[in-house]
Amino acid sequence: MTIQIDIFSGFFGAGKTTLIKKLIDENVYSKKITLIENEFGEIPIDGAFLKKYNIEIKEIKAGCICCSTVIDFTNTLREIIKSKETERIIIEPSGVGKLSEIVKIVKKLEEDDDIHLNLVIAAVDVTMYEEFTELFSEFYGDQISHASTILLSRTQNVDDEELGKVVSKIREINETASIVTTPWDDLSGVELLGLSEADGQQISRDEDLSAFDLEFDDDHDHDDDDHNHDIFTSWGIETPKIFPETQLRSIFESLKDEAVFGKVVRSKGKVQIDTVNWVEFDFVPNALEIRASEPDEIGRITVIGHDLNQAILDTIF
Ligand SMILES: [Zn+2]
Repeated sequence: MTIQIDIFSGFFGAGKTTLIKKLIDENVYSKKITLIENEFGEIPIDGAFLKKYNIEIKEIKAGCICCSTVIDFTNTLREIIKSKETERIIIEPSGVGKLSEIVKIVKKLEEDDDIHLNLVIAAVDVTMYEEFTELFSEFYGDQISHASTILLSRTQNVDDEELGKVVSKIREINETASIVTTPWDDLSGVELLGLSEADGQQISRDEDLSAFDLEFDDDHDHDDDDHNHDIFTSWGIETPKIFPETQLRSIFESLKDEAVFGKVVRSKGKVQIDTVNWVEFDFVPNALEIRASEPDEIGRITVIGHDLNQAILDTIF
């Protein structure tokens, strides 16, 4: 039995975890699966959720699976393959994982082991495309250019012209990938996977995006060979503090001030908002989602960014 391998890559906050949870939650995967998660200060899919679905999880925390922990990653993959207890392996690299490297590792194993590299997905937040290609093209460009499917997230938050521009720019660096622009909530997990397995099409909202007259700038460097994850830092706390929702919202509004906090690209966590209620939050510079959550023993907050002012973060939270 050939083990199928799906890679879900994407920059911080693009929605990798949301996507994997959606697929699992909709029972898209009927077979036994193992999830390999690599974190960069990111909060992983909670164990309770995965337990409900009997999913095996392997976390690699000590570094990036495309470089510093590549041996650990390869060995983990080999062990899972040898154990013959799983039929599908889902790999979730960290936001700064180089997709090209991860694909290379899996392809190498494919030569000897009975595995098949099935999906190579990059989740891309359409609202952050311009900014992140400018700032972090090394990781961002690598993920986009090496994916066979690009799932654009938050497309419901931009107009057609903006969406069309981003699609065209992505096409410039990846001519063959399927690009899915339909908002994820409008697609079932089965449809999403089906689209991901289709070849080189653009699957879009009904509008004809090709009608837009677009100009491109070609000065982005996507072939930078440096591989420096150190440009990102992650800050985190465990806290028993109560953050009323209005306070939480104003904190995140203020986090957009780069001069004060550095460039925050992502924050995620779970806190108490009053004496009984808890919320989970997801923050990227253009979106804040707060949703009710189960109580936990302690609140947890993670912030990821570039040049983060950790001292100020300590005081604001
Ligand atoms: Zn790496």
